[in-house]
Amino acid sequence: MLVLEDEDSIRSFVVINLRRAGFEPVEAATGNAALEALRADPEIRVALLDVMLPDIDGFEVCRRIRAEGNGVGIIMLSARGQEMDKITGLVSGADDYVTKPFSTAELTARIDALYRRTGEAPAARPAEELKQGPFVLNTRTRTLERAGQRVKLTQIEYALMLIFMQNPGQPLSREELLHRVWGEGFDGEDKVVDVNIRRLRIKLEDDSTQPAYLHTVWGFGYRWDA
Ligand code: CA
Repeated sequence: MLVLEDEDSIRSFVVINLRRAGFEPVEAATGNAALEALRADPEIRVALLDVMLPDIDGFEVCRRIRAEGNGVGIIMLSARGQEMDKITGLVSGADDYVTKPFSTAELTARIDALYRRTGEAPAARPAEELKQGPFVLNTRTRTLERAGQRVKLTQIEYALMLIFMQNPGQPLSREELLHRVWGEGFDGEDKVVDVNIRRLRIKLEDDSTQPAYLHTVWGFGYRWDA
C-alpha cells in the first residue's frame, strides 16, 4: 500500500502503525512522488492520500490516478470534516475518507475493509460472467464490458455493479447498498451512494440524465434493468 502525507511526523506515525498491523507501506511526501510510486508498482492495492500537500492537492492526485485507469483502493485523509470535502473526494474517484485526527484502529479497519473489497474473490463461484443486455460483468477479472467495450470502474463501482447485476429488476435501498458495499463500519451518509450512482450513469448510460439501465426508485434507492 501507499501512504501519501507531506508532514513527516504524521507520515512516520501512520507508517509505523501500519507496519505493526502487518502492512508494507510505501511512503510519498508529494503528490508527484505518489503518482510515480503507483506507476512503478502496479501491485499497490490501497493508497492513503492526504488532501493538503505542497505540490498538487490530494483530490487532484486521486483524479490523476483514476485518469490513468488505475483502480487502486483510495482513502482520502482529510483534515477538514466538511461535507464538501467528502463529496469532492468521492467525486474525484476516492473509495473512502478518514478525517484527521483519526485513531490507528479506525484507519486500519478502513484499510482492511478496502483490501477485502479489492481482494481476490473466493475460488468457488457460481458464475464468472453475468450477462445482461449489452453488459458483461466478469467476476474473475472484476471487469465490465458494454457492447464489447471495456468500461473502467473503480472498486466501489465494481462492487455496486456486482450487486445490481446479481439482483436485476429488484429495487435496492440506499441503506442496503451502503451496507453491502461500504460495510457495516462505514459511518458516512447515503449521499456517497448517490455520488457513485451518478458516476456510474455517466460511464454506462447514453444519457446520464435519462437513465435506461440504472433507474431511480424515488424515496428508496435504485433499480438495475438491462
Ligand atoms: Ca498535509
